[in-house]
Amino acid sequence: MEKSTIAIDTKFPRQDAYGAISMPVYHTAAYEFETAKDMADAFCGRVLAPDYSRVMNPTVMHLEEQVQALTGAANVFAFCSGMAAISNALLTVIESGKNVVTSRHLFGNTVALINTTFARFGVESRQVDLLDLDAVRKAIDGNTACIYLEIVTNPQMEVADLAALAEIAHEHNIPLIADTTAIPFTQFSSHEFGVDIEVVSSTKYISGGATSLGGLVIDYGTFPVVNKRIRFELLFNIGSYMSPHAAYMQSLGLETLDARYRVQSSNALNLAKKLREVKEIKNVNYVGLEDNPFHAIAQRQFGPTAGAMMTIELADQEACFHFIDSLKLIRRATNLFDNKTLAIHPYSTIFGNFSAEQKADMDVHDTTIRISVGLEDVNDIFEDIVQAVRNTSK
Ligand SMILES: *Cc1c(COP(=O)(O)O)cnc(C)c1O
Repeated sequence: MEKSTIAIDTKFPRQDAYGAISMPVYHTAAYEFETAKDMADAFCGRVLAPDYSRVMNPTVMHLEEQVQALTGAANVFAFCSGMAAISNALLTVIESGKNVVTSRHLFGNTVALINTTFARFGVESRQVDLLDLDAVRKAIDGNTACIYLEIVTNPQMEVADLAALAEIAHEHNIPLIADTTAIPFTQFSSHEFGVDIEVVSSTKYISGGATSLGGLVIDYGTFPVVNKRIRFELLFNIGSYMSPHAAYMQSLGLETLDARYRVQSSNALNLAKKLREVKEIKNVNYVGLEDNPFHAIAQRQFGPTAGAMMTIELADQEACFHFIDSLKLIRRATNLFDNKTLAIHPYSTIFGNFSAEQKADMDVHDTTIRISVGLEDVNDIFEDIVQAVRNTSK
């Protein structure tokens, strides 16, 4: 069955009392049991039944089952944000004295999580160039907990070789953890390239209309500690499970993900081609463009589409600000893969609290605008960008 069908056709774990066609929202913290023994069995995990919504809720479980059906993963856990999914995934493998081998090209809060928050607990961050496999090999030692990366980095748009990194990770018996937010799991199987644990900000493509925050840990079962620690330790002790209301909205989002993604990625490719012809735009960075340095590897790993994120380069920060202020249709907002097209100046916002030196180190430049391409007509998006850059250059 095709993924577009699976996303719509995942059955509920149990028949709803009224035959509801959408998964009902179970807005409840607790669940009543028939007998003391039933209660004990549920609490001790001898039967799989929700006992408390910090760790299990039928509406959230439905979303998890949809994702499991789409990915073939051994276990899927839904959290209240992408950052919660990332921190829980990393918490299954790190401990004081361990290190994480990762890139300088990471989502801003993930950088801060590893370099600041986890560093306080004695975890070392080893940021290397993940395109340089020798540097990766050199960075790994007996205390390395995992290799962590993003599949298309933001805003640099770098694509590393997943299979090569997986091979290195597995030689050292450590997992490859990949943030796959940029290209949805309906388009490609990261596990086929050796990814052990996938983390996703479901706030983005899955929610679709920016309706809700969410995050997923998609565990392929290759490192049993991941399932054990999340299910029996972290959900209980950290308490960052997804809320039933968010799960309801994200289940609906998942049903239309494939259809939306197809329009957004084709809009993005058309837009990227048109924007290259605009003389005020110094560069268009989109891995879907044939002469992009990461085009071939992106095609090999993710298939023919390249997602809805691109960057454009303008003359300087002033030009970027003027451009953003001149937009009429495109929204001035963070977030990615909304139904609406969004523009942001990452240097002064997402990375605004990093020093100029740190930003240079991360290849985050003040000349870059990030655009997340939505579902509007591509000509309307293009015209808004053109009028805004022309306005800038006056
Ligand atoms: C947005 C994002 C996150 C964080 O997700 P939240 O849902 O905002 O917590 C992590 N990684 C990537 C690549 C993102 O785009």
